[in-house]
Parts: sequence; C-alpha cells; structure tokens
Amino acid sequence: MSSSRCRCDITDAAIAAGAVAAAFAPCEPVDSRAAGLYRDWLSRGAHGGMDYMERYGDVRDNPCLLLDGARSILCCAFPYGQTSRSELFSDYAVGDDYHEVLRQRLGPVAELMETTVAGSATRICVDTAPLRERYWAARAGLGVIGLNNQLIVPGVGSKVFLAEILWTAEADYGTPLPGDCGRCGACVTACPGHALDGAGGIDCNRCLSYLTIEHRGPLPDGLVLSGRIYGCDICQDVCPHNRYCPPSLPEFCPRPAVMALSRDDIAGMSQTEFSTIFSHSAVKRAKLAGLKRNVR
Ligand code: SF4
Ligand code: SF4
Repeated sequence: MSSSRCRCDITDAAIAAGAVAAAFAPCEPVDSRAAGLYRDWLSRGAHGGMDYMERYGDVRDNPCLLLDGARSILCCAFPYGQTSRSELFSDYAVGDDYHEVLRQRLGPVAELMETTVAGSATRICVDTAPLRERYWAARAGLGVIGLNNQLIVPGVGSKVFLAEILWTAEADYGTPLPGDCGRCGACVTACPGHALDGAGGIDCNRCLSYLTIEHRGPLPDGLVLSGRIYGCDICQDVCPHNRYCPPSLPEFCPRPAVMALSRDDIAGMSQTEFSTIFSHSAVKRAKLAGLKRNVR
C-alpha cells in the first residue's frame, strides 16, 4: 500500500466521520524543548490539583509506549462551537460527552486503517490517555497553538475537540504550519483570572475552566466566576480566529434541558435530577457538589 493512499483514504474517512481537519503525525518522542517546557510547568505547580498530569511522564514524552509498534498518529479535530450560547455552561459541555461520541465516530476509521494495512493495529485516544494532543495536532499540521493555549485550526478556530488514532503502520505525514496565532494578545487581556502569561503558558490555578471543573474543595477567596458555573470560553470568544465557527456536530448541540437550567435550579437540584439531565454529559466530571459549589 502506498503512503499516499493512507493519507487520502483515511483522512477522508475521518472527515466523513465529522472531523473538520485530519492529518497524520509520526509517532515518536516529543522534542526535548516541549518535554522540558512541560516539566517546568509541572514544577511550578501550574497544573493545580490535576495530579494525574504528573503521572506517566514517560508515556507523555513518548506516545509509542501507548501502543506496541506504533508508528503514526492520526490527529482529528471535531467542531463544537455553539450559535445558541448558555450563560452557565461552556460551549463544549452543553451536549453529549465528547469522549463517548468521538470514540464511536472514530471506530469505523480505525477499522479502515486496520483493513488498509493487513495485520496493523490501532488505538483510539479521546482525552483519556496521557497523550499531548495539541502538540501532535500541531505537529501534524492541523493548526497552531495560540497564546490562549488552544489549538487553532485555520478557517475553523479553536472550538474543536481533538482525538487521535495511534497506528502501527506508516503514513504520509503532515507538516507543521508556519507562523503563530498572530499574537494579538486579546485572550491574555480578556482572561478574568490572569491565567495566561502572554508567552503561551497558562497557570491553571487562576483559570476558571480548571477551577469550576477540575478543582476540588473551596474556590479561592475573591474569585469572580462572572456567572459561569462550568467552564469558561472567554479566551476563545475574543480570539479573532473564532469569528466564524463551523456548525457543531449534532451530538454536541445544546440539550434543551441544560439550556433551561437557572442558577436556582442547580442550587436546588437533586442527585436524581442531576443524573438524568447530565446523563452521558461531560458535566458529570464536576459532580453535583461541584456545580452547587460554583453556584454559591
Ligand atoms: S478559560 Fe477563562 S480563565 Fe481560563 S485561561 Fe481562558 S479566559 Fe482565562
Ligand atoms: S486572541 Fe489573539 S493572541 Fe490569543 S490565541 Fe487568538 S490570535 Fe492568538
């Protein structure tokens, strides 16, 4: 099989599965600069309480450890930007859980890869393995990482979920895009927690997205959530690359039951109501106690 066949047929299948961009990167250790920056970030404690980011450093540095014989990474971006916005929830959280949706959508793509190269193996990763997905997406040429720490896909913006398929076969690899996001600085200025350092770094201890979703325990004194209770889109909303967002996949469109919720509804919500409204939703990550804390 020619490598060009890998690139065309398989990336086309990813696009048919709903991706707005798809390209291959070689599966190899991350470059030493990126590995060093990540370690510095951890050593400063900028990952907050996300202890899991300290684990599996060897795998994060070398994705080949995630699949025996891995040689390629198919990187895909799926759109979730909303035209109908929630005042309480981040755009990515108003529909179905992307972990489940994307794994299902990528299943046939992985099957195609395995039949395209007989005897090859694949592994689908949707934000669950210690894989540096923005790094690999940039390496594949899907986009550039902006000062807001998001992958920006040209003509699409940053409101995309990233997902990958590791593969034991070789492919025709994309080339990193030249240049940067434009560095207008709007995201740095607009960030309410001053979490962005203006050089591409982020301090999660100051980020409303981290604090409302991942952080356990009381919120820092004086924190202003500006009405948000799950996530924050500000550094993406102000980014000129997001002036036009392609339509979200249907599964990620807002659930009426979520859009109808008020802060009072959440303050008085029972566990049964929470489980029903947020069944198969990424919001479950914060748990009901987390939502109630954020409302308070
Ligand atoms: S998500 Fe919100 S708080 Fe976090 S860096 Fe972006 S603007 Fe700042
Ligand atoms: S708002 Fe400006 S600086 Fe921030 S990511 Fe977008 S283009 Fe880059």
